[in-house]
Amino acid sequence: YLITLEGGEGSGKTSILKLMADILGQQGHQIVCTREPGGIEIAEQIRGVILDRNNSSMDPRTEALLYAAARRQHLVEKVIPALEAGKIVLCDRYIDSSLAYQGYARGLGIEEIYTVNKFAIDDYMPDLTLYFDVEPKVGLARIEKDAGREVNRLDVESMKFHETVREGYHILVGQYPERIQVIDAGNSIEKVLEDALAVVADFMDS
Ligand code: C5P
Ligand code: MG
Repeated sequence: YLITLEGGEGSGKTSILKLMADILGQQGHQIVCTREPGGIEIAEQIRGVILDRNNSSMDPRTEALLYAAARRQHLVEKVIPALEAGKIVLCDRYIDSSLAYQGYARGLGIEEIYTVNKFAIDDYMPDLTLYFDVEPKVGLARIEKDAGREVNRLDVESMKFHETVREGYHILVGQYPERIQVIDAGNSIEKVLEDALAVVADFMDS
């Protein structure tokens, strides 16, 4: 299965992904953990270009195409081989990030960004998506406390931008009510982990 983790800044998806992977691994599942943009050399290089603070003049469509390009390479090199070997892939961000950030928040259109990404992913839509929902002011406050986090070009965006990203995710939840499961990420990490594991267990039983 391809399971993706989505959410705004400071929603905790990166931390939860590691914890989930440990527990699912202990349960005997073969897990591959990865992230987007990145996860493999070429895509990490593209990530560097997208998130470089010196590239503040980047056109939104250029940005969208680079995300899709990184996604394609990562899918072909890492995700598809793992799925074909019967593994569970846990991916930190995937197509819904593009739909919410570039499609909705940057105003390029969810439909348009879906079309670009459809070319990149073919039929590899996620089997399950965990959306970690948190108020931007809570998420951003967490990030400020996290000294080890890499700084990136998005750090200059306004609170309004992050509110709009969240609105975008809420629209996607409406569009894909089966695939996207909402987790209240305002709770403690223990509770968020418990909820995330329960969603995955339900999915695997069905
Ligand atoms: O997942 P992570 O927080 O490491 O993502 C790196 C940065 O890229 C974040 O600031 C995120 O908001 C941004 N991003 C984006 N559009 C995407 C994916 C990520 O603006 N499609
Ligand atoms: Mg993260």
